[in-house]
Amino acid sequence: MIQPLRGMKDLTFEESDRFVHIVKTAITVARSYGYNYIETPILEETALFKRSVGDSSDIVTKEMYQFEDKGGNDVCMRPEGTAGIVRAFVSAKLDRQPMKQKFYYYGPMFRYERPQKGRLRAFHQFGCESFGEASVYEDFTVIVMIGQIFDALGIGYDLLINSLGCQDCMPAYREKLVGFLTTIRSDLCEDCNRRISTNPIRVLDCKNEHCQAHLTDSPKLIHALCDSCDTDFNTLTALLDKAEIRYTVDTNLVRGLDYYNKTAFEFVSNEIGSQSAIAGGGRYDKLVEYLDGKPTPGIGFALGIERIMALVQMPRKQREGYYMGAMVPEAIDILLRLASRKRLEDKVTVEYNSKGFKSHMKGADKAHARYALLIGEDELANGTVWLKDLETKEEQSIRIDAL
Ligand SMILES: [Zn+2]
Ligand SMILES: [Zn+2]
Repeated sequence: MIQPLRGMKDLTFEESDRFVHIVKTAITVARSYGYNYIETPILEETALFKRSVGDSSDIVTKEMYQFEDKGGNDVCMRPEGTAGIVRAFVSAKLDRQPMKQKFYYYGPMFRYERPQKGRLRAFHQFGCESFGEASVYEDFTVIVMIGQIFDALGIGYDLLINSLGCQDCMPAYREKLVGFLTTIRSDLCEDCNRRISTNPIRVLDCKNEHCQAHLTDSPKLIHALCDSCDTDFNTLTALLDKAEIRYTVDTNLVRGLDYYNKTAFEFVSNEIGSQSAIAGGGRYDKLVEYLDGKPTPGIGFALGIERIMALVQMPRKQREGYYMGAMVPEAIDILLRLASRKRLEDKVTVEYNSKGFKSHMKGADKAHARYALLIGEDELANGTVWLKDLETKEEQSIRIDAL
């Protein structure tokens, strides 16, 4: 028997119901904010992720499903969604149009990691990308929108925010940080030591407790922001305060991807292990340029569908539609005709085998139908059907042409 690959999972029944509910809910909210659907290929040139996610990031160095295709191209299954959408935005020359563009997407992402609870190799994300809006009001709006999605799904969360600065303030801060890290080099783990030269900002979110203990006195970017970044960050926190959205400023929140600047945020939940991220994102004003487009500000987020699956409060399952069954074989083609008419307005399940009454009623229950519609000998002779509303328990006999 062939099993799914390690770290990959089939979603069926209860889980696929949850999946659909999450995606539907997120789409409804995103559309109300003016987002349109975008579908991009799962397979992209490896160079795309090297240039956007970053050459030194864990994703690119360790976790990509990367291979040479039959034409000799270096390709990669997308490890995240933003890069492909920015690529699509530039490919379609939308960067040359003055219009602001907002896209939502959902689908599978692939990372070759050690599988563990809440971490799969093939996992699904829902995400949004907003292009062309530099105002920090958009950062606020995106955060509100994510909160609205989680509220609609009945999921509690904590919000962490940070500013990652910009080209004007980040380089000076980076230098200061490298200076500090060099002095505590011997106390830091191997990964951190490597990152001091490749990606020093990532040292801040090292998961090693020993490293974190030595990082408490590290210089904080939030205290070294330029005027523009500082003003934006203050505006954002003031807007959140006014909207009574609780948040924590987390100076170690740097996100795993190189392309973020200014606002970065993460939604975390304590219900699936300590402070697990359930959504994250931020501003990426330089990414369109990195991918050869005209300078275009952007901001986006993604939420991990498998991560939140267990947390979703599913709406009570309502009985719906019809279960149709025959107690005499001659009645089945009448049912098939009735079914195709009813399917124009409702869900219909037809049992093709003629069976006894009890067996049909069990079938109607299994199908979670609102109505059981049966034809027996009497009904066949009279041109009627027997109909029971399984919610109100009301029964009646109706003429077929009146149905
Ligand atoms: Zn700045
Ligand atoms: Zn470390």
